[in-house]
Amino acid sequence: MQGFKLVVLAAFLVVSSLFASEVKLKNGKVYSDVTILGRDDQGVEIAVPHGKIKLPLDKVESIDGVTIPQTEPAANSLPGPMALVYVHRWSMDVFLLVMGLMAMGWIGVLIWVQHDVKGMPEEIKRTNADVLLLPVLGFVMYLVERQRRLREGEAPRTLTGRVAGLAPGEAPKKRGLFGGRTKIAANLGARKRRVGMEFLDVDGNEIQVRKDMPEMTGIEAAREVLQDAMSERASDIHLEPQADGCRVRFRVDGALQERLIFTRADGLRVVAALKTLAQIDVAEKRRAQDGRFRVRTEGGEVDFRAATASAIHGEKMVLRILDRKTGVMGLGDLGMRKDMMERFDRVIHSRSGIILAAGPTGSGKTSTLYAALSRLDRKRLNIMSIEDPVEYELEGATQIPVNVKAGVTYEAGLRSIMRQDPDVIFVGEMRDAEAAKIAIRAALTGHLVFSSLHAKNAVGTIMRLEEIGVEHYQVSSALLMVLAQRLVRVLCRECREAYEATGTELSEIGLALEPGRRIYRAVGCETCDSIGYRGRTGIFELLVLDEELRKAVNEGANEQVLAEMAARKGLRPYREDGVEKILSGITSVEEVIRAS
Ligand SMILES: [Zn+2]
Repeated sequence: MQGFKLVVLAAFLVVSSLFASEVKLKNGKVYSDVTILGRDDQGVEIAVPHGKIKLPLDKVESIDGVTIPQTEPAANSLPGPMALVYVHRWSMDVFLLVMGLMAMGWIGVLIWVQHDVKGMPEEIKRTNADVLLLPVLGFVMYLVERQRRLREGEAPRTLTGRVAGLAPGEAPKKRGLFGGRTKIAANLGARKRRVGMEFLDVDGNEIQVRKDMPEMTGIEAAREVLQDAMSERASDIHLEPQADGCRVRFRVDGALQERLIFTRADGLRVVAALKTLAQIDVAEKRRAQDGRFRVRTEGGEVDFRAATASAIHGEKMVLRILDRKTGVMGLGDLGMRKDMMERFDRVIHSRSGIILAAGPTGSGKTSTLYAALSRLDRKRLNIMSIEDPVEYELEGATQIPVNVKAGVTYEAGLRSIMRQDPDVIFVGEMRDAEAAKIAIRAALTGHLVFSSLHAKNAVGTIMRLEEIGVEHYQVSSALLMVLAQRLVRVLCRECREAYEATGTELSEIGLALEPGRRIYRAVGCETCDSIGYRGRTGIFELLVLDEELRKAVNEGANEQVLAEMAARKGLRPYREDGVEKILSGITSVEEVIRAS
């Protein structure tokens, strides 16, 4: 009998090896005991303890012993292997062991029962055996079905109907033997620890979530999405209904990444729950609306700004995550060169005038201005701000959020600040001519003003001010300095790969450097969620106005004249700053090209 048990256990282990897949790469590396989340014609996605990795098919030799037919690699595909690490999942071993013990126990029961029914009629014995064998049959059916689905490329689903590992735009495939809602092993390792989360309105009052309300049926899935976004340092969440699904993407370090796809119905339920939290009219689906809510977790409170827009496949929702507790960055953390930082620091301690940060949305202007404000003496100066929204809390400053519904626009807020005896004024953004004119006037009447503007570069900022109606003489007498900036992603230290730069690459970024210089490129590993980058840093262009430049601005010099004059005075364009960061291995050529 013992021998029989051992045979069964061995058979079980052989069968269970179907459970954990093995992905063999061409370079010899093996991912064993991993779960395959999904597969398309480009690659295969596998779960690892800290997330998932997508392996391109042209790097894969075999999956579960089945050789992958080779296709020609795309001519312009990026070089460099994906994250190649050996992953061993202990949790899977433990799981298999428990299953094995249960199977042995089952066999024991079987034997005992068969022994017990000795002497009973033959039919009873047979029925007994049939009933006892049913679970085994069920398990085998389950394995067969699972293999069939993986072969057909259908991704497994969880109970919430969430589909893991679908390619963008790909529809969830037809449901199989057990319907589409079977929770299967693929998610065993990827499941996250549940974290307590409370919802608050903007005033900090707790929102009572009643799951029995029809618009709140999606709250659990919504909670999961919010939790994932926060733990992945995302700045925005996009929920986008499509013809046959609802795509969820996160913006991390400035780049959008697809996270999961809900079924369309589930996606709409999640959007409805989030709308309810943000106090947006749930029934209104055509008009663009916006609202807010706050989430309280163990780590603190995080604000979410929700905005909806009606699109062809339904209502799209974007949530902006405002984590004010992440803290203001220091001047030294922005990525400025030392000499530039010292000049910048000198100018921000001026008594009056205006200091501008320029760049597109999401270029880090606000972080830079906060870093500057945090350098000022907040005990002795009255620092006041008008912002939309207040992105960070600055201790010792009075921060006023724009609230159009309550009549607090940039313009109105600025007017009220002027009556509060300010020394330093921070205007989140000079969005319109009126706000710009008030800010400039404040700067000309003995206040130090910080603000930001959409402009392509430092000299372009002066042009932009004149475009929105600020007079030459006002610009020339008020403007102290312009810091134009962009953000580039920082290469992941764990996996960046050194290579010799080619001539074309160097000429593309306008760099006269002999080819063969070793620089770095992105690869992707577990630390960086196989993105290859982690965090961002700025590339800057600093223009401090001196007498000669002021005179030229006052005389209405055109952009070209000003640019030449600034270059003569040592203004270095972003790219040069970017190139320096490429050479020191902080970022890649692609990032600098993309950003500048
Ligand atoms: Zn990495």
